[in-house]
Formats: sequence, C-alpha cells, structure tokens
Amino acid sequence: MKVFKFGGASLRNAQAVRNMSTIVRDYANGPLLVVVSAMDKTTNALERVVYNFLRGGNYQSEITTIFEYHQNLVNELFENPQEILHILEGLASQLTEKLRTTSDEDKLYDQVVCFGEILSSVIVHHYLAAVGIKNMWKDARQLICTDSTFREGKINWALTESSILSLRQELETHAIITQGFIGGDESGNTTTLGREGSDFSAAIFASCLLADSVTIWKDVPGVMNADPKRLPAAIVFEELPYKEAAEMTYYGASVIHPKTIKPLALKGIPLLVKSFTNPSLPGTKIHDCKVEHLPPMIVFKDNQCLISCKVTDFTFVNEDQLSAIFYALSELNVKLNVMQNSAISFSFCIDFRENKVMALIEKLQERFEVYYNTNLTLVTIKNYDEQSFETYRKKPGVILEQSSRSTLQVLVKE
Ligand code: ASP
Ligand code: MG
Repeated sequence: MKVFKFGGASLRNAQAVRNMSTIVRDYANGPLLVVVSAMDKTTNALERVVYNFLRGGNYQSEITTIFEYHQNLVNELFENPQEILHILEGLASQLTEKLRTTSDEDKLYDQVVCFGEILSSVIVHHYLAAVGIKNMWKDARQLICTDSTFREGKINWALTESSILSLRQELETHAIITQGFIGGDESGNTTTLGREGSDFSAAIFASCLLADSVTIWKDVPGVMNADPKRLPAAIVFEELPYKEAAEMTYYGASVIHPKTIKPLALKGIPLLVKSFTNPSLPGTKIHDCKVEHLPPMIVFKDNQCLISCKVTDFTFVNEDQLSAIFYALSELNVKLNVMQNSAISFSFCIDFRENKVMALIEKLQERFEVYYNTNLTLVTIKNYDEQSFETYRKKPGVILEQSSRSTLQVLVKE
C-alpha cells in the first residue's frame, strides 16, 4: 500500500483539488491512504482566530473569511454543492462552540486550528467520490493517539498502531482520506503535532501500516540542494540517504518536517518527494542508499537571534555556568541552533520567538551580562567544497562562523 500527502499549496484552489484527484487516480495502484493538510494558508488564519479571540480582537470576521473561502471552493468544484455546504455550516458552528467552551489557551488552539484539516479532508473526500474515486473519510483524531501536550502532542505509538491497523480491511476496497497534523488524547480532546506536522502524520500512518512508500506532493520538483527561490541554480537530488535528509531538516530545510524521517527509516520505508504540478518528473527518493559525492547543500534559516552571556566577575566561563544556561534553555524548551564559547562568554543562536527569547534573557540576566542580536540568518553548508566554503565564509555581514570537517555554518546579519 501507499501513503500520499498533499500539503496546503497542493489544495489551494479548485484547480489544485482537481489536479490532486488526477494524481490520486493515476499514481495510486493498489491500496492508498491520503493525508491532507489544511488548504492554502488556512492554518495561519485559524491561528489568528485564536489570537484575536483571546485578545478581544475581531475573530468573527476571520472565521467568516475562512468559511467563505471554503464555500467558494465547494461552489466551484461541485455541481450540487448543497450537501457539502450544509456540512460546512455544521463545522462552522462546531468551531464557534469550541471557542465558547475551552478555557486553556494551548488547548483552545488545538480545538480550533484542527478545523483547517477537517474542512480540507471533508471537501477532498466528497470531491473524490464525485469524480468516481471510491474513498472513505477517517478522523485522524481517533487514529493518531497522543498525550495531552497541546500544540505538540507526543505520539503514543502502541495505541496509535493498534488504531491504525484497524484500517487494513477497508484499505482493500477503498482509498482512505484523513487529516495530517492532528491527533487526539485519551480524554477525546484534539491535539496537534506542531506546525507543518502533516508530513509526520503521513510517516506515522505508513510506519504502522508498513506501507511500500510515502509520497509527499510538493510545489518543487523534489528535494533540492538549496531553496530555488534563493539560489536559482539549485539542483534536484535523484536519491538521498535517510541520514542526509534528516540532517538537512535539522539545519532548517523546510521541504520535509524534521520528524518525518525517523519512523520511515526505522521500517525501511522509502519517502518520495514529487512535484504536484509535474507528477511525471522522477522527484527524489529518500531511502537506504549510498550516494557518492553529494554536492554542497545550503540551508538558510531566517529569523535567528544570537544571545551572548558574559561572565561579570572576572572568572572564566565554567561548567557550572554552562549548566545554568542549559538548564534555562531546557526549562523553556528552546532549541539551540549553534553555540560557541570564549574565555568570558558563551554565545548561542536560537529561533527568534519574542516571548520565549525575552523570558530566556530575563532568566539568564540573573547570572550574566546578556547581549542579543535579532534578524539574523543562519546559513548551513553541508558537505561543503572549497568554493562554497570560501564563498560563505566571506559573505558580508558574518558575525559568527563555525565549521567541522563536513559542515560550515555562518550567522549573517543582512
Ligand atoms: N496545516 C498545518 C500547518 O500549516 C499542518 C501542515 O501543513 O503540515 O502547519
Ligand atoms: Mg502547511
């Protein structure tokens, strides 16, 4: 069996949904499970609903915009849209009800933001049926079982596996349409797996069902050695070992969600990244393989913040101080992207999320003189060669540099 994942861009309008149905028809021989994300930028819009609702802003107009967008799409896709429009209305009142009845902020976020995937999967399910592709809609909240860490649900693999395995029989006769990004906890609350988490959902389904492959349908021709919007000369990899792909995501390559590779690598399931606009292109196959002489891979990670902790009492940075820094980081659940130390200071680079960064700085100021810089870009050059090494080290605005035998990282102020 195969698992397909369609992201927001591949479902952003009626034409895109039609294109998806052609791919499903042409490229799915045998059993198929399709994971869909929210259409276009719906998740961002739903985040604004939560934000405005909690801060007394106009959330109602956001909700209206979201539903009008889906209604227009339905009107364009279906000859008889009434039944589906009616389902959409029901979903709109469910959403409003969630706002009224959920008090905890992170919990509320998950109960609301999940509607992007629900709407999308409902429309896709009905559309595929309308064009003669026999399929069943399944609620991922009953299949992907997590703990109650809202916004970042941790998978309960044993429960998830047994729920997902119950799909096997239906898969023999129907394609299954389900949602990415969302799961459910033991009390029946919706949880989400972290932004852009639909790829991870596809990997979970594939791992539990021992799928033959997972295909992520993207707006790029495959995994490339750089973002083509930034470096137009970027090339597409024919194949990549799991390890290389996983490391790329670690450094910030956004083509695949970082959690996607591990469950697939553990079961030896290949991951294909293919173009939804040009499905006949070969794309990239990520699997157990050896590739000689990989070209340099260049990953840009924007919106970085460099924090430096300076010792104030004429001692040098010691292990006790380092452990205080790491303790603060771990307590606030902040991930380090690069770190470097000198005699009297320890510097590190993290993603800039204002609340977190400010809380962290406040904590660190108890022991250190703290300096910080924002609006930085971290550029990682993995498998550098002489030329790329020189080019990036000499880039104007480099404020921190670090290299190992295979990887160069520079932090740049542009
Ligand atoms: N819709 C969710 C998001 O935009 C999940 C995903 O797209 O993978 O974050
Ligand atoms: Mg998305």
